[in-house]
Amino acid sequence: MRVAIVGGGAIGSATAFFLRRLGGGAVEVQVVEPDPGLTWASSARSASSIRQQFSNAINVRMSQFGLELITHADEWLGVDGGPVELGYVASGYLFLATAAGAEVLRANHAGQAALDAPVALLAPDELARRTPWLRTDDLALASLGLHGEGWFDGQALAQALARKARALGATWRRSRVTGFVRRGARLISAQLDDGTRIEADAFVNAAGPWAGAVGALAGAAVPVHARRRTVFMLDCPTPLPRTPLVVDPGGVWFRSEGQGFIGGWSPGAGDADPDDLPLDQPDLAQFEGHLWPALAHRVPAFEALRVRSAWAGYYEVHPLDHNALIGPHPELPNFILANGFSGHGLQHAPAVGRGVAEWLLNGRYESLDLSPFACERVASGRAFVEQAII
Ligand SMILES: Cc1cc2nc3c(=O)[nH]c(=O)nc-3n(C[C@H](O)[C@H](O)[C@H](O)COP(=O)(O)OP(=O)(O)OC[C@H]3O[C@@H](n4cnc5c(N)ncnc54)[C@H](O)[C@@H]3O)c2cc1C
Repeated sequence: MRVAIVGGGAIGSATAFFLRRLGGGAVEVQVVEPDPGLTWASSARSASSIRQQFSNAINVRMSQFGLELITHADEWLGVDGGPVELGYVASGYLFLATAAGAEVLRANHAGQAALDAPVALLAPDELARRTPWLRTDDLALASLGLHGEGWFDGQALAQALARKARALGATWRRSRVTGFVRRGARLISAQLDDGTRIEADAFVNAAGPWAGAVGALAGAAVPVHARRRTVFMLDCPTPLPRTPLVVDPGGVWFRSEGQGFIGGWSPGAGDADPDDLPLDQPDLAQFEGHLWPALAHRVPAFEALRVRSAWAGYYEVHPLDHNALIGPHPELPNFILANGFSGHGLQHAPAVGRGVAEWLLNGRYESLDLSPFACERVASGRAFVEQAII
């Protein structure tokens, strides 16, 4: 079997790795990636954090496998016995809810507990005892990951997956897919911008925020939007202990990063969120407009926050339900989507890569059933909603 993967970020690299790990010499794998340094890729512009606090069981399970691979990276991804440094920092997420959000948090927690996710629900007085630096008087409930959550170096993960995939025999083409040859409901080959073509039995769309554009090249609608998110690096002159990744009810988040902090804001349902804004222009006005008011309210010491720098990356948003699209395109069965992660795809990359490889090699998911992410739900409009979106 011959598989061509469009995009060599974390998702494309994980798919290449698992195809060779599970399929060995029976599968020929080519990854097409114009920028092996991943300059603009989401995998290198991410907050690169991992959590078990999702509303859907399958998302919790995918994170649990991501955690296994990230925390045992030497065993999974080591090449010739060399160490794999992913910079993993163990630290929980802390989701905060006012009265309006408490029920959702409680329901999410019940689902997480059923999967042995070590997450504690905290009433405001208990939260105040644990985090005296945090304002709690307007909160109704919080949920805190006790272990099995944290953050890591996303670019290092993507590149370690790519290195291991190559060591197992996958090949990388430094090029861009500019078109496909299609015969009826089947893709035959991909056209590259170096003038060559790749013929394959299956083509995986792993183009992250550019998945919609790659879908258009194949003549297949892929409803994924590139939505810019700005991340601020912040210094706080007032000493504070290390913080978990705190998710405030209004869509602002922050966490410790080295000696300082990083933070950002995700627009809510009523906020403008245009597609394809330039990544070389982080939205600096968001600090005054959204971040600082919320942060200074939540953490009084943040009144004195200073912006050190900022960067921007694209969330690959699937607006129907903010959940991934994984599996064959309904109109084009040999065009496999692994897209639309809506801001949580890095931690799920290992599980996605393994699932797509199993599906391609054996015609079914074996380790984790990823069929809830099947792309048929786009046409039917049957949403598979993830409630715990940041
Ligand atoms: C600010 C921010 C914070 C985030 N925080 C988190 C987090 O804390 N935890 C988490 O799990 N996730 C987070 N995410 C989401 C996560 O980073 C993404 O879901 C994940 O990196 C997607 O990986 P990918 O491989 O699909 O896409 P990418 O890493 O973007 O890779 C896609 C690749 O496709 C290539 N490509 C595009 N078009 C073509 C073409 N025509 N031909 C060939 N190649 C092409 C590109 O060059 C690119 O390298 C965050 C994202 C952002 C932007």
